[in-house]
Amino acid sequence: MQPFEQLGLIGCGLMGGSFALALKQAGLVKRVVGYSKSPSTTERARQLGVIDVAAPSALLAAAGADLVLLAVPVAATEATLKSIKHLVTPEMMIMDVGSTKVDVVQAAHTALRDQIGSFVPAHPIAGKEVSGVEHSDARLYHGAQVILTPTERTIAGHLHKAQALWELLGCRVRSMSPQDHDGAFATVSHLPHLLAFAMMQSVLSQPNADEMLSLAGPGFRDFTRIAAGDPKMWRDVLLANREQVLAQSQQFQQALQQLQALIQAGDGQGLEDHLTLASAARAHWRPGAPRR
Ligand code: NAP
Repeated sequence: MQPFEQLGLIGCGLMGGSFALALKQAGLVKRVVGYSKSPSTTERARQLGVIDVAAPSALLAAAGADLVLLAVPVAATEATLKSIKHLVTPEMMIMDVGSTKVDVVQAAHTALRDQIGSFVPAHPIAGKEVSGVEHSDARLYHGAQVILTPTERTIAGHLHKAQALWELLGCRVRSMSPQDHDGAFATVSHLPHLLAFAMMQSVLSQPNADEMLSLAGPGFRDFTRIAAGDPKMWRDVLLANREQVLAQSQQFQQALQQLQALIQAGDGQGLEDHLTLASAARAHWRPGAPRR
């Protein structure tokens, strides 16, 4: 693949910064022009070598770019795309990395209108609990899955280029509809984050919370690791995908109630049967692989 002339990076945080570094390391971009909401973030990105040029606006980051990456909170998608709309041409490819896709695609339709074909919605299944450009990592995406949710008007050439680009960064790429994406990720990402936050909240609401936390071991550490995620980002994701998240919460409550009933009834065999099914499924699970 020919290197891109200019990446216009809008949102110089963990995900955007890591994308810029990965592209540079792979020799896939000649120049990165970046913009973030706070000028201090943009300047920090420049000092760290994540971007080459700091732009004072999203519009100026996108000006002259053949690739634009939106790596902002999903709730900022529409306003950001509106602010660059009049620069968008069919030759420019725009991608995002947002964790939800129905709202992002809707926002892109509203903002880009007749230029929607330039937009390739993407969600890399990679990340960290820490945010900010300081944590950018050129290897963040290596080995990750990337879900593309193209619209019916996405320009085919852009879709193929987006797929090739992520593959060159070491990713496995799948395509699906935004609805299927949000349903699946409500189950395997958004609800688990909600439960981890709720678990922490439940411990903290008890009078001897500090004592209990001091006793907790690796099981608690692994179960609650994702509760250290960025609260603002997760607020946006949970609200953006609220219907699917609430539906999955109901599903989870049923499973929990089933286990509670077995415990209450002292039904050891029933409990063991349920735990055996879950344990075997988890033991055989590998990221990105279908269940055997
Ligand atoms: P982050 O480290 O906090 O970076 C977000 C960046 O966007 C910050 O630099 C922030 O600038 C900037 N920003 C916020 N509002 C903006 C606006 N209106 N215009 C321009 N820049 C703006 O967060 P992140 O983890 O990279 O998340 C970015 C996106 O990736 C989110 O949509 C999230 O859903 C998605 N995602 C995250 C993960 C993960 O694990 N973190 C995984 C998959 C997908 P300031 O510093 O100036 O506030």
